[in-house]
Amino acid sequence: MPLGEEFEFIDRRFRDLTVPIAWVERLFDGCRWAEGPVWFADGGYVVWSDAPNNRMMRWIPECGVDVFRAASNFTNGNTRDREGRLVSCEHGTRRVTRTEPDGTLTVIAERYKGRRLNSPNDVIVKSDGTVWFSDPNYGIMSNYEGFKAEMEQDGCYVFRADPARGTLDVVADDFVKPNGLAFSPDESLLYVADSGVSHDPDGPHHIRAFRVGKTGKLSGGRVFAEVSPGLPDGFRVDTDGNVWTSAGDGVHCYAPDGALLGKIHIPETTANVTFGGPRRNRLFITATTSLYTVFVGATGAQRP
Ligand code: MG
Repeated sequence: MPLGEEFEFIDRRFRDLTVPIAWVERLFDGCRWAEGPVWFADGGYVVWSDAPNNRMMRWIPECGVDVFRAASNFTNGNTRDREGRLVSCEHGTRRVTRTEPDGTLTVIAERYKGRRLNSPNDVIVKSDGTVWFSDPNYGIMSNYEGFKAEMEQDGCYVFRADPARGTLDVVADDFVKPNGLAFSPDESLLYVADSGVSHDPDGPHHIRAFRVGKTGKLSGGRVFAEVSPGLPDGFRVDTDGNVWTSAGDGVHCYAPDGALLGKIHIPETTANVTFGGPRRNRLFITATTSLYTVFVGATGAQRP
């Protein structure tokens, strides 16, 4: 593809968010469903999930790709907490875990009201240490990326776990299939994707925005962006509050006012993104079989 053709400019603001002489590179192409990319700033590498292959991968600059963890309990979404510990959603064990520095796993959430979770999908950590995750049933619908099983919960919820207090609360219960999540840079807003269209052509394919109250209670929940083609799976926010989301044709960038600014076209269905690199100005994109990367003009807001 000629230089620059991956970028589609819909709003002139997208010019400053991209680098005209940068291009999309494919770093790896051996996955079945690449998801959950997370940047390790201290190690200088990217870790991501390859759920159907029950493994996690790692890309190290100048070295290449190795298997980070196998078996991975069919891990999906990943993030890091404020201490830099990896926090992961596991389909196979239907739980959210934290990887301690010595490699042992600590269970953060596994059951709600005594019943097993569906299959935690994506996760973020707030600056107060609380762990927010979505719990659609994708991982128990078949044996492809988990183990086929009946739902034990009455719905697909968004949860907030507080590891310090040992609590687990439902913060949103009106989603068809909640998926990616991200806070605005000041954490006053929580964005949550609903990818219900994946199994119902009339289902939602949008991102909603909630106001986050002092005690962690959510209000509002308006539709922030309708994503098409495809659906919003995972996304990240930059320091200016722009939302960079996966979509059927690549990455879509939305301004805080909800305007679609532009796209980065990726040749495979895109699942998720994360910002990385020493200056957090490099987008890493998981898309079906592959990990892609492109330098952008924006800076990722997530820490560490
Ligand atoms: Mg997801």
